[in-house]
Amino acid sequence: MAFPRRICLACQQDFTRKWNGERHNETVHNGLARVVSIQEYLYGSTNTRAATSPALPSTLTEKDLDDILTDSLQSIEKEFEECKRLAKNVYGQNWVEPLGRAVVESMSSSNPKRTMQEYLRSLRRFSVNIRMVYAASVVLKMSPSLAKESLKTLRKSHLH
Ligand SMILES: [Zn+2]
Repeated sequence: MAFPRRICLACQQDFTRKWNGERHNETVHNGLARVVSIQEYLYGSTNTRAATSPALPSTLTEKDLDDILTDSLQSIEKEFEECKRLAKNVYGQNWVEPLGRAVVESMSSSNPKRTMQEYLRSLRRFSVNIRMVYAASVVLKMSPSLAKESLKTLRKSHLH
């Protein structure tokens, strides 16, 4: 995947192609936002950064909504793929449901990408924990769930 070269000042969505940014501006913000280069965004004047607040789209057609959804789904594609890999490790064949919930949550948030990144982070932590508990269970010669209880007890003995 190419590095994003343009960014929308109204909603911070990024684009690898200038054309995509322009279409986004037209369909999502009725052409009222500004889509600038990453350089201008990062190093530009404060004027640029403080620019236009999101304009409310007035008349969105079915096709506009399709495009918006496609853009939003595309923005979480990378995170989704890694989540899928981790979720398969963590949940086995029951991976679809938690991941589906994350997609729904992500689409209903104001920043789908950030929401998905947060889910990915928690899944990473969870996945590491599970591997550690599993490793401990081998040494303790017990099931992972018993090993987890046993590790809790060990930690508890150090709390006062
Ligand atoms: Zn935008």
